[in-house]
Amino acid sequence: MLLNLQFLGGAGTITGSRYLLEADDVRVLVDCGLFQGSRALRARNWQAMPVDPAEVDAVFLTHAHLDHAGGIARLVSHGFDGPIFATPPTADLVDNLLLDAAQIQEHEAEYANYRGFSKHRPARPLFTTQDAKTAIKQLRGLPFHQPFTLAPQLNAQFRRSGHLLGASSVLFTLNGDLGTKRVFFSGDLGRSNSELHSPPEPLPAVDYLICEATYGDRKRPDIDVREALADIVNRSAARDGALIIPVFAAGRMQDMLWLLKQLEASRKIPSLPVFVDSPLGVECTGTYLRFARETKFGALGQVTGERVWPTHTDFCANVVDSKNINMHHGACIILSSSGMATGGRVLFHLRKRLPDPRTTVLFVGYQASGTRGRLLLDGAPEIKIHGRYIPVNAQICELQGVSGHADQTELLAWIDGAEARPGEIFVTHGEPEACDGLVDALRGRGYRARAARDGERVVLA
Ligand SMILES: [Zn+2]
Repeated sequence: MLLNLQFLGGAGTITGSRYLLEADDVRVLVDCGLFQGSRALRARNWQAMPVDPAEVDAVFLTHAHLDHAGGIARLVSHGFDGPIFATPPTADLVDNLLLDAAQIQEHEAEYANYRGFSKHRPARPLFTTQDAKTAIKQLRGLPFHQPFTLAPQLNAQFRRSGHLLGASSVLFTLNGDLGTKRVFFSGDLGRSNSELHSPPEPLPAVDYLICEATYGDRKRPDIDVREALADIVNRSAARDGALIIPVFAAGRMQDMLWLLKQLEASRKIPSLPVFVDSPLGVECTGTYLRFARETKFGALGQVTGERVWPTHTDFCANVVDSKNINMHHGACIILSSSGMATGGRVLFHLRKRLPDPRTTVLFVGYQASGTRGRLLLDGAPEIKIHGRYIPVNAQICELQGVSGHADQTELLAWIDGAEARPGEIFVTHGEPEACDGLVDALRGRGYRARAARDGERVVLA
């Protein structure tokens, strides 16, 4: 059997996850994500993939985030007509996320044309609503642990990765004349003590492990997340300012609503107006409620919205509601996407409120280099939004404990806890220092490990 693995993205960077696995004449893509962050990275979304989409037999999505799933619309528009496998909650979230991303793309192209600040004339969307709808039709729900035989030589199975609702790792069992090879893609691995999701399932015995390394070189301080968040909320409320939390609409938004609810219920914070300014966030929260048993919401028995989000939560369904938040004076909390402030409605809130010293901006997820989130955390005195420089007088802070990613200690513990030591480990999905940090730590423990190189094709058997 010919068995090849090619890294088409997500190698030496945390976005654009795309891995091509070839077993004889069967070709599958594991994830098909968008590149996000710097202009150079985003430019890659427009480039043709080294493989013809029409020659890919199937796609397996580990989870719904756009840096893992957002590329399927373009893949489909370039000739891919096969099945796109995902767990049922992931498929539900992808449906929401992809349509929203297409609309944002279309609106931003329109807005850029209207304001004339695009380099491209006319500005075009990366993919359209129609492309997204076509891709969504190709989604196939594959429940956790249900083995699926795509071809005699290739069987796939999703395992829980704990990163967000529906998030999975994928185990491929490949049969050939030289015996069986097992290849495991970690997907994004969650924390061992997430507030809302169960921890990643133990790693089975595999020949090859493709492992994420978002926090591969970092050990997070052991902080009490609830105490730290209560402190930030209370300080913001004391200043009578807005607390803006840029969040991914799927995952961190629900984590934060749940956390704020716990703090409010235990009277650690006052009952403040909370604005969820993201129609997508509202839809994804609905998906979380529908699949409540997959999360710690399930422990509530009867799950209703009132039990999982703060009392005075306002879900903004349209642009008028969104604009009304601007009129709100006094302490409040605004949850809005995107999580790295790369686009979406949160930009309008930042544009309006960053100059105000009473404002606090709280980042709760990983901020990739080149994003506005990273620039703000690095202390940028001004920031470009919609073609204008906005002065930053707001307080900028970070809460790492709610991140959806395991840190180095947790990654090592997960690999050490495997059924058997993996034969070889390829480290992906991290900035170069993070990948090198994890590789060094793994080698120090006697593992065969190396950082995957972008574009590299590896012969596995
Ligand atoms: Zn993710």
